[in-house]
Amino acid sequence: MQWILLSVIYYGLYGVNALDYSNYPAIQRFQEYIQINTTTGANLTPAVEFWTQLAEEQGVPINVYEYGEGYPIVVLKWAGQDSSLNSIQLNSHMDVVPADENEGWSYPPFGGVLAEDGNIYGRGTQDMKSVSIQYYEALSGIKANNITLLRDVYMTLMPDEEVGGEDGMIPFLQSDEFSAMNVGLELDEGTSYPIPIIPLFYQDKVVWQIKVDCHGVAAHGSTFPATNTTATGKCRNVIDTLLKFRDEQYIISTSASIFDAGVYTSVNLNRLNGGTANNIIPSLVSLTFDIRLGTRVNEDAFQAQLEQWIAEAGDNIMLTYISKNPQSPATLVSSSNPYWIAIAEAAQTLRIPIVPIVPPGSTDARHVRLAGVPAFGISPMANTPMLLHAVDEYIPAETFLRGIDIYEQIITNLANIPGSETSTDPSVYIVKTAL
Ligand SMILES: [Zn+2]
Repeated sequence: MQWILLSVIYYGLYGVNALDYSNYPAIQRFQEYIQINTTTGANLTPAVEFWTQLAEEQGVPINVYEYGEGYPIVVLKWAGQDSSLNSIQLNSHMDVVPADENEGWSYPPFGGVLAEDGNIYGRGTQDMKSVSIQYYEALSGIKANNITLLRDVYMTLMPDEEVGGEDGMIPFLQSDEFSAMNVGLELDEGTSYPIPIIPLFYQDKVVWQIKVDCHGVAAHGSTFPATNTTATGKCRNVIDTLLKFRDEQYIISTSASIFDAGVYTSVNLNRLNGGTANNIIPSLVSLTFDIRLGTRVNEDAFQAQLEQWIAEAGDNIMLTYISKNPQSPATLVSSSNPYWIAIAEAAQTLRIPIVPIVPPGSTDARHVRLAGVPAFGISPMANTPMLLHAVDEYIPAETFLRGIDIYEQIITNLANIPGSETSTDPSVYIVKTAL
């Protein structure tokens, strides 16, 4: 009896909670944003209009820049008391990875549904439309309290992070518009974590993707040439060598701390292409590898090693670099970096563990650090399953709302660091990892 009564109370409250969330303007804005399909390459005009309207509602200036046709970059400026100081850049990306309803989604991926379980479902709920709206809500909240922060704060929204930032962050960092922002610290995306911590990325592992074309004798399927003269034989040698290296790195990864994926280099053979008919020995077989360099790997030495392996695998093997990013430096997470101290103090005030880590992947922040600006990646989603790019991507409404409070504190701390405490040269807060 008592149990039944408790259940009724519990489910009653549960229902009320879910209903309440739907009345939150922040939640409604978030749902509306998810409903705009911003799959990379899609027309971003509706997203730009969405942000234009939000900027107008807050009376903050908005600029839209385009360095590649169809790839708008949106910038909202929240002016501080002293624009001569280095500003704070809050970056997020508008684009999301594709989502197909037929993949098994419980709710339409562009529906932004607040379900009865209290979760908001949709593509981009974790990666990273939640963060964009949280920045906005946090800044609006600060403004509503009649508080003007010391430093200028910019919200920047990128069009193509999911495919590398070639038309977004990369040209933006080289632009006069970016220079004029005089950025001292950039915040970028982090990740959800299924444990009660919020990871903070201070360095990224960079991407090398290589294509290996193995050319060999073409002959009828009934002939029997020496293995090492065939395209497949040469490919076998390449695969053997790279997967042997993979096995070594895999062992290192199994004993690596979850807070430092930088100690190993990941290698994955993701594409194998070749062959024309069942009875023809193919003259060409191609392999594509995705490699994420350990943060302590020397690029020149690794390149030389890779090229030696290919040379040893046989003749007529062509190596092409599809992408070959230089190592990204690390943002200091020590008492010598006042931006880190500001975040650490926010964590203390909020009583949440913010833990510096090197993640297995990479974000737009790697380009920012390379340009000499310190950057941290953080998405406030503790105790949340990692569903970035996954089917049924969701964020609990409660976690989403809590994230707004977290950003209010972090942004306030960062934008109120006195000018006397920071160097006018932000690059002093980034370092190349000691090799
Ligand atoms: Zn992302």
